[in-house]
Amino acid sequence: MTIKLHNTKSRKKEVFAPIDPDNVRMYVCGPTVYDRAHLGNARPVVVFDVLYRLLRHTYGADHVTYVRNFTDVDDKINARAAESGRSIGEITAETTQWFLDDMAALGALEPNHMPRATQYIPQMITMIGDLIERGHAYAAEGHVLFAVDSWREGYGRLSGRSVDDMIAGARVEVAPYKKNPMDFVLWKPSSDDLPGWDSPWGRGRPGWHIECSAMAYELLGESFDIHGGGNDLMFPHHENEIAQSCCAHPEGDFAKVWMHNEMLQVEGKKMSKSLGNFFTVRDLLEGNWSGGWKVPGEVIRFVFLSTHYRKPMDWTESTAKSAIEELARWYRYPGFMQGNNSEPAEGILTALVDDLNTPEVLKILRDLAKQSAYDELFASLRFLGFSGKWFFDLLPSEETSRRIRKLVSDLDRFRDEKNYAAADELRGGLAAAGVQVRSSKGVSEFSVSPDFDPSKLEAL
Ligand code: AMP
Ligand code: ZN
Repeated sequence: MTIKLHNTKSRKKEVFAPIDPDNVRMYVCGPTVYDRAHLGNARPVVVFDVLYRLLRHTYGADHVTYVRNFTDVDDKINARAAESGRSIGEITAETTQWFLDDMAALGALEPNHMPRATQYIPQMITMIGDLIERGHAYAAEGHVLFAVDSWREGYGRLSGRSVDDMIAGARVEVAPYKKNPMDFVLWKPSSDDLPGWDSPWGRGRPGWHIECSAMAYELLGESFDIHGGGNDLMFPHHENEIAQSCCAHPEGDFAKVWMHNEMLQVEGKKMSKSLGNFFTVRDLLEGNWSGGWKVPGEVIRFVFLSTHYRKPMDWTESTAKSAIEELARWYRYPGFMQGNNSEPAEGILTALVDDLNTPEVLKILRDLAKQSAYDELFASLRFLGFSGKWFFDLLPSEETSRRIRKLVSDLDRFRDEKNYAAADELRGGLAAAGVQVRSSKGVSEFSVSPDFDPSKLEAL
């Protein structure tokens, strides 16, 4: 099946033809590790996880190399260390593990390589040296800057702006040592209290952009297939990565396809700390958000898939609610655990190869459910990263089920006797324990929610 992907560079959906089908290579910009990942940070992780799964399915699991970095040298990390009195190493190690745990909860596969910036400082120094030698960078006052005038023909091509437009529109840091205000930092000096490495330009640390160029070169080579990230990174970060890589390695063309996911919003508004609608993935997993209930990672994944990655995505409690209900309904169909069919439905692949049309994927899953094609439904869910673990872990034991069934029949009896006060009280008690009861035509069914707590049944 031919994969088509929208390439930011050409602004077109293009047929994807890997440089080497035996080794399809993808780089995605990862997090800066100083705090818990917020829900927005999880969007590129899920988007590119779906692409990774599609590529593995198409080219073979051993023929795809996926790299996602950790930025563990950054002024935000230094500030966090200074204000908390903790060491930088402690903060970055802890935050890195949090990120891995949270993304695993979303059902994301780990990339093949997860390089940390601090492990690639010598490679960055070499690349910066090459850029100076080739006339694309200059040292001034302990800094090294990339000279955008040395590459006017290429700079701005990704975001579609000229250097002059960028100077007019951007809030660029003006500094006396810059030849052009658009020149950006490759290396900067570190005072004794800040992390620093010896270099030909004195003790210092890298600017933000050079790490991705150096790590992508080391792990994927001078040309590779796909580069991804959120569209907030397009300028300046990705523009600068391209400039560094293409000028240091003119024999290659860095990434052939650039993919950018749109931003995440909450209830129609930008997610931000000042609006109070800011939450981390962990907050959702633990029920620590405005909705107040524990959102299984898979439900976050499902909600993400409901919007195409190139559209702004709105997180609302009601989409999360319908996602959890829909997934739970599917997992209640017989045979998920026994299912050994591993091939997703054809329609799922047809939708994915069309620039990751995940809203269409969900439509097809619904059709499969409607047609009772459970085998295909389950194989497709597994392929898409849904393991159902949260649901099956929750299933009450035989004994607990018996106890709930007894309470539900008490509830029916109270209602028959028109003892509505007792019925309401019991229903409330069940809800507080995480048991929902649905009654129609005199038949009651129950289901348990992710915060089901059997101990709360005792008192009922
Ligand atoms: P950062 O740690 O800010 O560099 O972000 C890590 C990744 O998360 C990058 O790919 C960003 O583009 C992405 N990202 C940050 N905020 C959002 C958001 N609100 N929605 C979607 N992606 C985001
Ligand atoms: Zn990057």
